[in-house]
Amino acid sequence: MLSNSLVELDRRHLVHPVSSFRGHEARGVRVLTGGQGATVSDAEGRRLIDGFAGLWCVNAGYGHESVVAAAAEQMRQLPYATGYFDLGAEAPILLAAALAERSPGDLDHVYFTLGGSDAVDSTIRFVRYYWHARGQPDRDQFISVAQGYHGSSSLGAGLTALPAFHDGFGLPYPWQHKISSHYTYRNPVRGDQAVIDASVAELRAKIEEIGAERVAAFYVEPIQGSGGVLVPPMGWVKAMREVCAEYGVLFVADEVITGFGRTGPIFACEEEGIVPDLMTTAKGLTSGYVPMGAVFLSDHVYDTIADGAGAKAIGHGFTYSAHPVSAAVALEVLALYEGGLFENGRRMGARLMAGLEGLRDHPLVGDVRGRGMLAAVELVVDKAEKTPLPASVQPATRLFDRAWEEGLILRAFAQGVLGYAPPLCCTEDEIDAIVARTRRVLDRTL
Ligand code: PLP
Repeated sequence: MLSNSLVELDRRHLVHPVSSFRGHEARGVRVLTGGQGATVSDAEGRRLIDGFAGLWCVNAGYGHESVVAAAAEQMRQLPYATGYFDLGAEAPILLAAALAERSPGDLDHVYFTLGGSDAVDSTIRFVRYYWHARGQPDRDQFISVAQGYHGSSSLGAGLTALPAFHDGFGLPYPWQHKISSHYTYRNPVRGDQAVIDASVAELRAKIEEIGAERVAAFYVEPIQGSGGVLVPPMGWVKAMREVCAEYGVLFVADEVITGFGRTGPIFACEEEGIVPDLMTTAKGLTSGYVPMGAVFLSDHVYDTIADGAGAKAIGHGFTYSAHPVSAAVALEVLALYEGGLFENGRRMGARLMAGLEGLRDHPLVGDVRGRGMLAAVELVVDKAEKTPLPASVQPATRLFDRAWEEGLILRAFAQGVLGYAPPLCCTEDEIDAIVARTRRVLDRTL
């Protein structure tokens, strides 16, 4: 089908996620047609380095035949098995066991979802159930972090702290509270320890303001992704975890982006040496080949829910929880990661960070931050004042367009932040090209 008729059909019929519907109609869709390694091609025959791994998810890269074969084999053998009625299938069981073995501490119980939003949504329901089972149903208040993103489900979107997900939706709900982000580049508090101390004090104050006996859980991304790749000082996540332990508040780590090698280790929590009470993942779990997410429950959360329910069914679950095809894909993707991709990602992550650091001499570059294959460059018009790019520049669309013209897909956030999350399979040449093409984008933005 001709690309321009596709554009017209898209305009008329396909509702795009997180987009300005009218803006999208005016701009039209760019149709991607293929992918190999870290490169994608479009309907006009253009080849681009995917510096954002789709939507920070294609961690293994495109075109792995072994993943295709695993999916096909599972479809041929048994495309679907419900987990209801005490039924199951081999692939999800093996996957749960493999993940439990690799997860921090006693996060040994895995509930599979279709993606990140329903993983977060599931944690909210599990947390509520947990406190009911403990005889404390009034623990129904949730805290998350400004600039955080926890998906766009009805409940989770209120834990998300980005205006576009609240405005017009009547969110957040009154039981959803926020503390400030660490956002070190724009934090008036300077110095790593001072930032940690300020967040600890703010979380304590927030818990006490609400009443410790009312606070159910605190949600954190080890690195805030959709808020602009905001990297906390090392020790920040651990300090927040300790405050939660002190008050008996459940600590939920949202590793939907940071999981599966994005920052180096399999889970970012490892770097801080902490064990959350619950953890969410998705994206890199299947490397985007098919949808899947996972919630990890620690022993005490699982046992409290199990014992609280007794013989009663716990009314939470989806038709496609633990889908066998997704599980078969995830098992093969895990084998690829451990067969060398995690290792390559760690080497390429160091190269990416060094390359982006080299852009600091550019007049528009205010900040460079990241860890592993997750990074951002924040643009400003005045480095001393940290003045953001004016809205007239329309950073999100203009910077994205310029990168596209240079053969690079990156994420351009509205506030003038360029986001990077390349596939872990990138070669040295591809990493160097990401950096070189970014410099050309910056030069054209002066
Ligand atoms: N949590 C985090 C930290 C995310 O970054 C995302 C998506 O980007 C989600 C949850 C929601 O995941 P999904 O888009 O798969 O629903």
